[in-house]
Amino acid sequence: MSVDAVSAARGSDRRHVLHSWSAHGTLEPVVVAGAEGAHFWDEDGRRWLDFSSQLVNVNVGHQHPKLIAAIKAQAETLCTVAPYHANAATSEAARLIAELAPGDLNRVFFTNGGAEAVENAIRMARLHTGRHKILTAYRSYHGATAGAIAATGEPRRWPSEPGPPGFIKFWGPYPYRSAFHSGSPEEECERALAHLADTIMVEGPQGIAAILLETVVGANGILVPPDGYLQGVRALCDAHGIMMIADEVMAGFGRCGEWFAVDRWGVVPDLITFAKGVNSGYVPLGGVILSEAISASFANRAYPGGLTYSGHPLACAAAVACIGIYKEENLIARARRLGEEVIGPALHAMQGRHPAIGEVRGLGAFWAIELVRDRTTREPLVPFNASGAADAAMVELAAACKRQGLWPFVVSNRMHIVPPLSIDEQALRDGLAIVDEALHVADRHYVG
Ligand code: PLP
Repeated sequence: MSVDAVSAARGSDRRHVLHSWSAHGTLEPVVVAGAEGAHFWDEDGRRWLDFSSQLVNVNVGHQHPKLIAAIKAQAETLCTVAPYHANAATSEAARLIAELAPGDLNRVFFTNGGAEAVENAIRMARLHTGRHKILTAYRSYHGATAGAIAATGEPRRWPSEPGPPGFIKFWGPYPYRSAFHSGSPEEECERALAHLADTIMVEGPQGIAAILLETVVGANGILVPPDGYLQGVRALCDAHGIMMIADEVMAGFGRCGEWFAVDRWGVVPDLITFAKGVNSGYVPLGGVILSEAISASFANRAYPGGLTYSGHPLACAAAVACIGIYKEENLIARARRLGEEVIGPALHAMQGRHPAIGEVRGLGAFWAIELVRDRTTREPLVPFNASGAADAAMVELAAACKRQGLWPFVVSNRMHIVPPLSIDEQALRDGLAIVDEALHVADRHYVG
């Protein structure tokens, strides 16, 4: 692109595009010119190592040739069909996903992304059980459509309130900031389950359709549940005929070093929602995987939900290719190994050097550094839901990374380390060294 074309792109963007979650009057977006592997760049030659995988979706890396070839081949064959037709790309994607999914989750309803997946999982749980209430966790994100944002347990929900009825919140486990004053992960697990059991009791189990939760909480802090928690949720669901919906839009498809994050704990939910990593975001795609029992509910009565682009051939061909790449390049096991051998050890070593690091947690290619002003009080480096001047320390930290050629994922008082699963190991180590250096910015705000 010429200099004129770049400035035209910037000008049109500023005049005509409303970006997600942003005030268009203050946004200065990078005009991305290209990307490859774990890097992307602009026309001025600025290049960044992508430690965000964009929005934690480009799991196989940017511009993977096999993924591009599959999309091109599908475009040549069949770009689009109505969702009531079958076609080779959609059926193959569904077959592969069912094969990978745990237990008897064997049928897929495709959507265009994560929020629609959540909406439909909720609808399926309600229709299957004949019940209405949906229990969801504080510190969760489930999407920005009406039901998904009502299910969401963090400030992005607030401007959409009042939402639809029937969404009840509970506290999930978070040992570092326990809602239950726990002293250990084991205690946190036990108390969080007791709290959930109490919530079910006082809400009336006979009215609860589903417990919807992120297997590993993503945008709200990479909260890895203590061992036993998800098994406990499963047991509560079984005891009361409640559907368990695992939202794996961010945690699924290799991010946690497993095909599905629930695999780590051997838990089989009734419904799984997915998106992002299913095809690394090359074409919008999400979906719900249904158990045999829920699937049977819609064998002889029509499922009352649909989308013009459900099972879109281009998106599904990209999913087939992406799953093939995960297998050929052994990326799921690679993510697990990178977490255990590179990212985890590097971040824990940084914690020894930087007083502002309160906690390091994660698994696979899914990690968070939680920053504090004081390790004893655990006061966050910036206040909850900070913006503007109150958020300056985090903005400064992100800027320090970007100056050194690393694009970070900074949210609230945390930096999430979420690179593509395919990132070159040396590039990963170099990126971690940039983070290490940039964290001096956070230390300057430390008062403990
Ligand atoms: N669920 C989870 C766990 C997510 O992380 C997200 C997005 O980040 C969504 C749902 C919503 O997905 P989408 O933005 O594709 O609608």
